[in-house]
Amino acid sequence: MNNLNVVPDEVLQRAKANVDSNGYLNIEIDPRLDLFAEIERLKKEKNAILLAHYYQEPDIQDVADYIGDSLGLAQQAAKTDADIIVFAGVHFMAETAKILNPNKKVLLPDLKAGCSLADSAPADLFAHFKAKYPGHIVISYINCTAEIKALSDIICTSSNAEKIIESVPKDQPIIFAPDKNLGGYLNKKTGRNMVLWNGACMVHEIFSLEKITKLKVRHPKAKLIAHPECEDAVLQVADFVGSTTQLLKYAIQDSAEEYIVATETGILHQMQKDAPHKTFIPAPPNNSCACNDCPHMKLNTLEKLYLCMEYETPEITMDETLRKAALKPIERMLEISRAAGLIGG
Ligand code: SF4
Repeated sequence: MNNLNVVPDEVLQRAKANVDSNGYLNIEIDPRLDLFAEIERLKKEKNAILLAHYYQEPDIQDVADYIGDSLGLAQQAAKTDADIIVFAGVHFMAETAKILNPNKKVLLPDLKAGCSLADSAPADLFAHFKAKYPGHIVISYINCTAEIKALSDIICTSSNAEKIIESVPKDQPIIFAPDKNLGGYLNKKTGRNMVLWNGACMVHEIFSLEKITKLKVRHPKAKLIAHPECEDAVLQVADFVGSTTQLLKYAIQDSAEEYIVATETGILHQMQKDAPHKTFIPAPPNNSCACNDCPHMKLNTLEKLYLCMEYETPEITMDETLRKAALKPIERMLEISRAAGLIGG
């Protein structure tokens, strides 16, 4: 440990005791500490891999071993041989990593980094909902709790959802949870009539069609690219709809010079890095706040990341019966994705 950050034992024990209420280790860090160098040191010393979602702040993306969307992150978590997985994302993502890696330590910088979409499907209410539709199988978007996963038959992400649905016989009725916007979009794309749970993401529901239309007048050559968690009205006018990774690839490979991006603003960092000559404009929300920044994702900071790696707290733990039940539909997703050539073996 760097001698700039020697923490008295009683301070550390107090911070650990309060981690459930605070969500993170509330310890002051010497401002002279080079957090980037410290995080690199900890990765090596502890054989830890740092996985970060595209919606994390740029500093965290830059220090990560792997940056991706939910599908890519789940796949990395499934194949890593690191002893510790540090997950710079939200709680359900770190939970997914733990479900796939029961014998590894999984750390999350802030336990309170939740997800409004996952929260919109409480397990007890969903179990009642499911019971009303006998004979249906459940396909759940990965943005849900371990309890919802355990009630599901197959998990999907926005990258593989179409293929997952197509792998199910046409006459098999399906419940789709928890995102009604993604579910509605998939019903249109696949011609199915899936029963939809009424959940949504607070970030993707906030875009204003009116403001996007005005922005397009000011930038007539800009293409609108949107995540399928956006409302139908926005998706209908989009030039391209896709998962975070698909939006990134499209923005790099497409010939246009300007894009209005309707998803969480964190992805603009990679878009700008990978296509520095292009212009990326965040789609405006329907009020003046920065509501297209996910407040849950942005709870993670470089300081919290360093502290959780140094002291291996907060850690994700899970009941083994729940973990096994939640694992089955994730493994099914990975199998179908592999067979469809969406991810490597
Ligand atoms: S952007 Fe939406 S779906 Fe993603 S973590 Fe934030 S609240 Fe959840």
